[in-house]
Amino acid sequence: MTRIRILAPDVVGKIRAGEVIDRPAAVAKELIENAIDAGSRLIAVHVGASPERLIRVLDDGAGMTRDDAAMSVKRHATSKLEHDRDLESIKTLGFRGEALASIAEVSRMTLSTRSAEDLTGTQVEVLGGTLIQVSGVGRAVGTTVTVEDLFFNTPARLRFLKSRDSETRALARVVWSYILTMPAIHWRFQVEGKEDVDLPLAGDFLERWALVYGRGATKGAEAGVPFEGEIAGILFRGVLGTPEQARANRDHQFFAVNGRVVSSPTLGAALRQGYMNLIPSDRYPIGLLTIEIDPSLVDVNVHPTKREVRFRDESRVFQSTRAAVEEAMRRYVPAGVGAGIGAGGAGRPFAGVEFAAPPGEASTQESGGARPSASQPLLDGLEMARALYAPPGALGADSMVAREGGIPGNDVAPGDVGALRENLAEPEIAIWQLHDRYLLAPIRGGLVIIDQHAAHERILYEEARERLFGAGGPTQHLLFPRVLDLTREELDTLLLHETQMRRLGYEVSLFGERQIAVRGVPASIPEEAAMEALKRLLVTADEDDASGDPPEERIAKTFACHAAVRSGQPLKPEERRALVDRLFATGLPHGDPHGRATYVRLSMEELDRRFGRR
Ligand code: ADP
Ligand code: MG
Repeated sequence: MTRIRILAPDVVGKIRAGEVIDRPAAVAKELIENAIDAGSRLIAVHVGASPERLIRVLDDGAGMTRDDAAMSVKRHATSKLEHDRDLESIKTLGFRGEALASIAEVSRMTLSTRSAEDLTGTQVEVLGGTLIQVSGVGRAVGTTVTVEDLFFNTPARLRFLKSRDSETRALARVVWSYILTMPAIHWRFQVEGKEDVDLPLAGDFLERWALVYGRGATKGAEAGVPFEGEIAGILFRGVLGTPEQARANRDHQFFAVNGRVVSSPTLGAALRQGYMNLIPSDRYPIGLLTIEIDPSLVDVNVHPTKREVRFRDESRVFQSTRAAVEEAMRRYVPAGVGAGIGAGGAGRPFAGVEFAAPPGEASTQESGGARPSASQPLLDGLEMARALYAPPGALGADSMVAREGGIPGNDVAPGDVGALRENLAEPEIAIWQLHDRYLLAPIRGGLVIIDQHAAHERILYEEARERLFGAGGPTQHLLFPRVLDLTREELDTLLLHETQMRRLGYEVSLFGERQIAVRGVPASIPEEAAMEALKRLLVTADEDDASGDPPEERIAKTFACHAAVRSGQPLKPEERRALVDRLFATGLPHGDPHGRATYVRLSMEELDRRFGRR
């Protein structure tokens, strides 16, 4: 173990000034980072009901000798850095030797520690920066730092603290960000009166992640997408949230670079873009992204609190990260959806339409080759619809028309192809329904297969959001009002969310004590489906969830899911057409609100390949 030394003045001069201890969260961060640097397998964080009153971090790491313990609280005292050239490739989380000194200066700090080579431990007490006492103490190998009465001697900083709750929340985020990024450490985290968790070593990132983010997942859904890979010498590991877990803010994104939890606009943007357009542009994925990169390619000495890092080659890191995330998403999202929509990014909803990935195999294949060219034209909804219905001249399409257009198949003489072409002109083109579940439509370059439920869900979700976040939508009045019996809770939910229900298009009035009369339902969906969705909304609209989403968001999802046509429901030709038209008029036709595929495309090339034509 290297001894602690005071840094030479010329090295100090090259270090970005001081650890800023501005709030309890900063104390927790520094103490945790020290514990990690000490090689701890167990780290226990204990916080008082008011975090500025008490923060204690205990570890089972290397500990310090008596001399080192007394040194450690001095300014620029560190065992982690010697020469200024070491600054070029820092492998530890700390390096400035200032944290303990800065904390000790503004609090009552007690440090107790024992190294493996000592039989007894050492206790060091500092009050407002003044060393009070160094004494012997019996203890296990490791270190415990207790910080009490933070800012007792700097009342101005004390006044700047936010509410107890928000200081506790900020601190908890710091702790959780390390809990999540360091699954190979046994963590304990207690906040008096609030939190008490004991998390033994986890096998991998996903196992840890699932503890926090697995709960809200809908049944059967994954807690997240495990993520690992190497691109351009950078090793990526972590967990990506599913598209349906996307949030309205970035609070649930965690980044670590060589073990250091950082905030990084570069990584944030790369993460977002890696999701391609699987999530709406105003939402952010959740996830945990750790990267291991040659330390000499990272500058950690750019920010006073080391919260940010700079990469020597930002664009390389950005590109690699985006590609790694994108690849993981391609594997996660059913074939044909994720593939090929990458280059466009969120602002290009139809960027993937022309690509020809082999569905069914895209998921196992490398993504190479299935990428659209960057110069691909951007289609809008109308153009997309046109592309769908343009005469393909494909045999498969011809026979479909023969069936659906009421022309008996055997009536089609080989010479009638010209006439058939006429039939294929826009609105008449046939859309097949396969087993009351999938819609099949010929398109210019092949065939598109649409999941009717998923497609309708996407349509209704966007429609519902528009209504809920806007001025509302049209109501279809019922000839005979429908009366529903409600539970007390359902009635409360209804009263609480009355405005939202009205915006969706429901017209409801009280009718007796526990009954309501539904006089109108959202236009554009059948009455039965609307009633089903309403019943479901009254059960779930008020449910607590941890997503931080506005209720409108959840209401839109529930509504869409329960009002959409079921799989197994026969659809008339005009209903099929309307569904296809409306799907491609949405902002994100590729996936339903849960990130599942709405359609896959089968190209002529793929068919030809399968039939051995090329
Ligand atoms: P830095 O981490 O930048 O070196 P600090 O002020 O945080 O500066 O810590 C000073 C020194 O005290 C560290 O270099 C390390 O040698 C020692 N130290 C601090 N905390 C611990 C701990 N939990 N276990 C072992 N050594 C520690
Ligand atoms: Mg430190």
